[in-house]
Amino acid sequence: MFSVLKPLPTDPILGLMAAYKQDTNPNKIDLGVGVYKDELGNTPVLKAVKKAEAFRLENETSKSYIGLAGNLDYCQKMESLLLGEHKTLLANRVRTAQAPGGTGALRVAAEFIMRCNPKATVWVTTPTWANHISLFEAAGLTVKEYPYYDYENKDLLFDEMINTLKQVPKGDVVLLHACCHNPSGMDLNEAQWKVVAELAKEVGFTPLVDIAYQGFGSSLEEDARGLRILADAVEELIICSSCSKNFGLYRERIGACSLIAKDSATADISNSVLLSVVRSIYSMPPAHGADIVNTILSSTELTQMWHQELDEMRSRINGLRTQIKETLATKDIAQDFSFIERQHGMFSFLGINKEQITRLQKEYGIYIVGSSRVNVAGVSDANIEYFANAVADVCK
Ligand code: PLP
Repeated sequence: MFSVLKPLPTDPILGLMAAYKQDTNPNKIDLGVGVYKDELGNTPVLKAVKKAEAFRLENETSKSYIGLAGNLDYCQKMESLLLGEHKTLLANRVRTAQAPGGTGALRVAAEFIMRCNPKATVWVTTPTWANHISLFEAAGLTVKEYPYYDYENKDLLFDEMINTLKQVPKGDVVLLHACCHNPSGMDLNEAQWKVVAELAKEVGFTPLVDIAYQGFGSSLEEDARGLRILADAVEELIICSSCSKNFGLYRERIGACSLIAKDSATADISNSVLLSVVRSIYSMPPAHGADIVNTILSSTELTQMWHQELDEMRSRINGLRTQIKETLATKDIAQDFSFIERQHGMFSFLGINKEQITRLQKEYGIYIVGSSRVNVAGVSDANIEYFANAVADVCK
């Protein structure tokens, strides 16, 4: 049976990670992989997480299954984190299933959409996180793209986006990045979210909001603003969230898939289908990550500690954006990199070509993805001059 298989290329980002590891250049910099890094280039366990883990070790009483929806306290805390005190929560219209990471949540959402309407097309931004496309196609859904990032002007193609979304057939799904768009860093502003929300109502598409970086852009509240604007307007909404980045829980695989339905009875029916989807994929989610997040969000002290650590991560990223822009401006380069400061989250496209990207890797040991996406958090005080000089050299 296996002999019919053809080898598939390695995922480009994972390939880049492997090449970086083998590189012996002492000045090498990894700007490829999408994890937060501190000034020393480490991705440490947050202190609030360490404390919650110590508490869990002491207090866990059973390793029995935790149920299809996972940890219900965690699910409820996630709903509040995402929606605040939203009217949909007060009206009991929201249901949440814990999921293995944001990716697991997206896969659950994909299977849920298949149960609602297997003919639905999922519309994603051009460009988007590469896994979005393969993930929805693997579930059997058709994926189409709508214009989003203007590579030339380093801005949004908002008019083109709206013109395309106006043509989306009723019953299709439109995926939106809540904040810190991966890979472009370009986000919608409040007025633009309102336009999209009105359009969703008018056209009749279902928004699916992927929120993998809440707290990494402006603040926990601000980064959920677009999501809440949509929830104000539409009857049905799917939310896929992740605690990988904002809690630094990457390998624990913790996220959630939330549904907002038009009323409480429809929410119950939708939830029964959601849980049946979960049962058929992995039966029950793992316990550890949800317990950590729930412990943190149940304690005022740990929540404060987490907020502080999240603020530090965000300030470092935003500070680096300014520093990168300013340092590149001191070099003799024709290109304008000021857009880096206007974008949000860990990623931006440098906007350099394949040959320049290869030179950065071969001559300087600077690893960035082939699309020219850089992880801003991989830059530090120690390497920023080296990085800027290298960019200036390949841009000459
Ligand atoms: N969505 C987006 C836009 C992402 O960038 C990521 C991770 O990089 C995810 C979802 C999924 O994250 P995870 O499965 O690691 O929680």
